[in-house]
Amino acid sequence: MGFKYCKEGHLMDPSWRCCPVCLAPLRGWLVRMGEGDRPGAVYPVHEGKSFIGSGADSEIRVCGGGLARLHAYLAVGDLCTIVDLGNGPAMTVNRVEAVKSGLIDGDVIGLGDSVFRIKLL
Ligand SMILES: [Zn+2]
Repeated sequence: MGFKYCKEGHLMDPSWRCCPVCLAPLRGWLVRMGEGDRPGAVYPVHEGKSFIGSGADSEIRVCGGGLARLHAYLAVGDLCTIVDLGNGPAMTVNRVEAVKSGLIDGDVIGLGDSVFRIKLL
C-alpha cells in the first residue's frame, strides 16, 4: 500500500526503482508566467505523452493555477502537440482558443488561470 514520488514529483509505485517519466529524454520546459501563483516555476517536458493538470496522476503537475485534475496533454516527438481534454476552461495558444495545437519554441499556452511559455530544446 502507498505510493512514492520521484524527485520531479511523479507518482511511482513503491516497487519501481526508476521513474518511467524521467527516463524519457528531456525535450524542454514549461515556464509559468505572470503574477499568479508560483510565477517562474519550471516544469520539465519529456519525450512522449505527458498529462498536465492539478492531479497527482498528471506527469506535469500544476497546483494552484485553476487547472483541472487532467487538463491537457503534451505529445512530444518530432513535433510537439498540445491537446485540451475539455475538463476545464478553454485552452489558449498564443491567446487564441484551441482544442489542439502544434507548438514551437516560445509559444504561450493558457490553461485554467495559468499562463506558460514553452521552451523546447
Ligand atoms: Zn519522474
